Amino acid sequence: MAKKQFKAESKRLLDLMINSIYTNREIFLRELISNASDAIDKIYYQTLMDENLTFDKDSYYIKLSVDRENRLLTISDTGIGMNKEELDDNLGIIARSGSFNFKQENELKDGYDIIGQFGVGFYSAFMVADKITVISKAFGSDEAYRWESNGIDGYTIEPCEKDLVGTDIILRIKENTEEEDFDEYLQEYRLRGIIKKYSDFIRYPIKMDVNRSRLKEGSEDKYENYTEEQTINSMVPIWKKNKNELTDEDYDNFYFEKRYGFDKPVKHIHISTDGLISYNAILFIPEKMPFDFYTQEYEKGLELYSNGVLIMNKCADLLPDYFSFVKGMVDSEDLTLNISREVLQHDRQLRIIANNIKNRIKNELVQLLQNDREKYEAFYQSFGRRLKFGVYENFGADKEFLQDLLLFYSSQEKKLVTLDEYLSRMPEEQKFIYYAAGESVEKLEKLPQTELVADKGYEILYFTDDVDEFAIKIMMSYKDIEFKSVASGELGIEAETDNEIDELNRSLFNEMKNLLGDSVSDVRASQRLKSHPVCLTNQGELSIEMEKILNAMPEAQGIKADKVLEINTNHEVFSALREAYENDSDKLALFTNLLYNQALLIEGLPLQDPLEFSNNICKLMN
Ligand code: ADP
Ligand code: MG
Repeated sequence: MAKKQFKAESKRLLDLMINSIYTNREIFLRELISNASDAIDKIYYQTLMDENLTFDKDSYYIKLSVDRENRLLTISDTGIGMNKEELDDNLGIIARSGSFNFKQENELKDGYDIIGQFGVGFYSAFMVADKITVISKAFGSDEAYRWESNGIDGYTIEPCEKDLVGTDIILRIKENTEEEDFDEYLQEYRLRGIIKKYSDFIRYPIKMDVNRSRLKEGSEDKYENYTEEQTINSMVPIWKKNKNELTDEDYDNFYFEKRYGFDKPVKHIHISTDGLISYNAILFIPEKMPFDFYTQEYEKGLELYSNGVLIMNKCADLLPDYFSFVKGMVDSEDLTLNISREVLQHDRQLRIIANNIKNRIKNELVQLLQNDREKYEAFYQSFGRRLKFGVYENFGADKEFLQDLLLFYSSQEKKLVTLDEYLSRMPEEQKFIYYAAGESVEKLEKLPQTELVADKGYEILYFTDDVDEFAIKIMMSYKDIEFKSVASGELGIEAETDNEIDELNRSLFNEMKNLLGDSVSDVRASQRLKSHPVCLTNQGELSIEMEKILNAMPEAQGIKADKVLEINTNHEVFSALREAYENDSDKLALFTNLLYNQALLIEGLPLQDPLEFSNNICKLMN
């Protein structure tokens, strides 16, 4: 029979599995059992949809059998099974879960990374087996098929016999080598241990024939061996267990088993309520950002169970967008199973649960912030931006709900601070919460516009996320103190040096404004500069940072902030300007152009005419 080839990316994974030096091989069993459990879930769905079918609990199970002599470990299930095409599709290529698509070739080589981070599914069995046979009969079909593969060189599919609907996965366990022990996967106690560790909460019985011995009947000292079928897993789902019985590790295992993420969550929240609506929920706050988190592809949602049965994989209505990073599940007895998904979305009970969950998540985050700052900051690193979008979204509808979760980098503390912390340090006479927006902390630290505010001893919040200033504009104030950009026209600080503007200066600035045309709306003597010669500030709502961010979006071109060129009249450059103004109008034009372009460069804005600028510098040097 002709061998079929695995698809290219599957081949790479297979190769990894076969030659894996990964020590955590035992997870192959978790993978196969979870597939079996999924398959039973699917048949369960079928019976829910079809009135003529009933789900007879006792006939659905997973069973492990060991044939030590032939080194075979079989995992059987009475799930939905696979027909010929499905065997080909599902086992011939990597699961479409997407976890693989984004991985680059070079990352793929790093076996540790992948195996540690993702569920690797069916293929992981090749870590322990040198041959895999899958015998399957699909629900609603009379035919059964055998899929078989020795690994990398492909697989075959042929018809065969099988009585029950379902799937048998038969692994031929590798021979022991000098360094490696594979026999353990044929040992009952070892298999039992793995099942307990990873699959204890699987809702269907996982059975195994175990060898036992007993006193021979009628004898007082003669024993006989016999086998007995035992159910190994406890089947009680973790969310129905008492919190006191569970360890952090149990939750972490559940998180991993469920594929909620590949990181270690910073926090789990276990809710069991019997109030107006009774429900159990286990929620996780991840530490690391999923690779697609800030893309359109990312789907938020919690798993929704009705009385222990999964009815929706990602129920989006259970989470507000700004908490879209939360993973987990909700199980409620009060939701009816046969409810259609459309109806479910508007279900009142669901809304109450969603609201409870929202508040609970916020409270837990506040507590984390207070009690374990390090963890919170790790979380914030990944999802802080999402929270800030949350402030901004829906015209700021939830800005107050979220404001205490925000952190910004402080010019004085040199670390992230809360708005409350900022207020607590604020001198009495300070009128505003000052901020500066820019690309990075390093750049902001050198920003000329911060000079006066910093000189006053006032703390400045550094905004380096694109969303920051937008969020703050929506918030406007925090506890009645308004936010103020260091680049805004009016700073609310009395300048110490009184820059009397004489007539001559005024006409100089007018002339410069004329030279610059529409590029700036005004040229002024600066109140905020100390050591730098020039800077740009803005008038009006739209800041220069916002202009940059908006113009980076494809749909919004040509947006301009209202810019003001500020000149430090205490700087030597200013005397040069005055000189030029009085004696040499060409020189004034040259200086004006240079200063304006300098200001653009400091802001990180593109020069209008780079060539002209560099020619002007040459002119200056000659
Ligand atoms: P995943 O479970 O993430 O989809 P796997 O590699 O574990 O990826 O499995 C690939 C696919 O093979 C499954 O999605 C399922 O369709 C099918 N499959 C695997 N094991 C079984 C089984 N025991 N019964 C029915 N289908 C199965
Ligand atoms: Mg799987």
